[in-house]
Amino acid sequence: MDPRETVNSASDTTRFHCTGCGRCCTGHHVPLTLGEAQQWVDDGGQVIVLVEAFLANGIGLPAEQQDHARRRSCAVPCGDTEAYVAITFAAFNPGPCRNLDAELRCMIYERRPLVCRIYPMEINPHIPLRPQAKDCPPEAWEDGEVLIHRERVLDPTLMELIERSRQADRDDIRNKTLICQRLGIDTSALKGNGFTAYLPDTSALHQAMGDTAADTQAALAEWILHVEDGELAGKLGSAGARVTGTSAGHYSFIGF
Ligand code: SF4
Ligand code: SF4
Repeated sequence: MDPRETVNSASDTTRFHCTGCGRCCTGHHVPLTLGEAQQWVDDGGQVIVLVEAFLANGIGLPAEQQDHARRRSCAVPCGDTEAYVAITFAAFNPGPCRNLDAELRCMIYERRPLVCRIYPMEINPHIPLRPQAKDCPPEAWEDGEVLIHRERVLDPTLMELIERSRQADRDDIRNKTLICQRLGIDTSALKGNGFTAYLPDTSALHQAMGDTAADTQAALAEWILHVEDGELAGKLGSAGARVTGTSAGHYSFIGF
């Protein structure tokens, strides 16, 4: 039996050990803190920008997630209302990560991003760890350290990394919003309905990061919501939001 099917159901303990298979380093866009994104660009890597938002009146967000989501979002004008945009800068890894060597070792192991240190744990407190949803092979869940006991992360070092990642999301969001503005990124998907994805030119991103660091007090510009579902778009429009159903081509809409 695949141990991933029984973990967390037959038992209240999840054990894990990394097998070093390298799957989590292949085909995954790795979320980065703003500092890590700057480093990634400085090292010659490419960054993908993923955006989702919800309305101030809560459309797009279950009530129990309001607190976590608001703290990592930036309130911006959107038509006659306000939207809260959450922006992820991620290492663009359509194939193997640029730092993965032929022996499946990380060439920047000592300074690898926070998310690489946290995987396979979830950072969002509203997403439970589901081994089936992870890339780790079945044997990774058969033994090893106790990762979770009765829904609690046992390793204080791991918990500290997760908290650091959450705090970076909160600390970075305003500057990430300004960087997006400077790159002409102004359209978000509705949270729960999809993401908009942008692949900015690396030198333009580098410039926008530098300009934002030099002027963090710039005013926040208006954003638009990309929604292709007519009924949902009508609901958002009635709430005062500025909505579009088509991309002008400078981003992709990844719908759920
Ligand atoms: S930076 Fe290292 S650990 Fe992170 S995805 Fe790339 S190879 Fe893997
Ligand atoms: S996919 Fe899981 S087992 Fe494989 S290297 Fe990544 S963390 Fe380790």
